[in-house]
Amino acid sequence: KSGFTAIVGRPNVGKSTFMNRVIGEKIAIMSDKAQTTRNRIQGVYTDEDSQIVFIDTPGIHKPKHKLGNYMVNTAEQTLNEVDIILFMINAEEGYGRGDQFIVDRLKNVDRPVYLIINKIDRVHPDKLITLIEQYRELMEFTEIVPISALEGNNVDHLLTVIKGHL
Ligand code: GDP
Ligand code: MG
Repeated sequence: KSGFTAIVGRPNVGKSTFMNRVIGEKIAIMSDKAQTTRNRIQGVYTDEDSQIVFIDTPGIHKPKHKLGNYMVNTAEQTLNEVDIILFMINAEEGYGRGDQFIVDRLKNVDRPVYLIINKIDRVHPDKLITLIEQYRELMEFTEIVPISALEGNNVDHLLTVIKGHL
């Protein structure tokens, strides 16, 4: 089994942390500053029976200038070429305008979209349930998977879910 998986989400939701945990190397640039990862950085996860190519798509956010527009278009192209999209959000922050912009882009894409709620180590389970209900109303997700990329909670399960879709 093999396939391509794109990760989208606002800056600092934990995309690079997730990729680094899964692939086990520092392949993505870690930074708290927005937009340091300009290019699509790919990492490949391999095991006995599967190969998953991960693509970090930092360009999906409301553009502030022309280069920003170019980046949004590039990111949208990527989304239409992959097998699976992981839309990652920060459980601590909840729904915001940045997410709305991404959700609007994702609605135009004909690919399975998984909602990945990251940083669950930082929130109360009740808040998590409220978040899930809130996001369910925005669009139809193939599945909603809460994880902690930093601590590793549920990351193996997410990999199993991805493999099941390839
Ligand atoms: P990106 O901009 O989406 O690539 O986000 P990063 O992977 O660079 O992470 C941004 C910040 O969030 C870093 O300080 C990470 O250590 C932190 N972070 C990432 N995942 C988690 C998590 O699951 N739990 C907590 N508490 N912090 C996290
Ligand atoms: Mg990053």
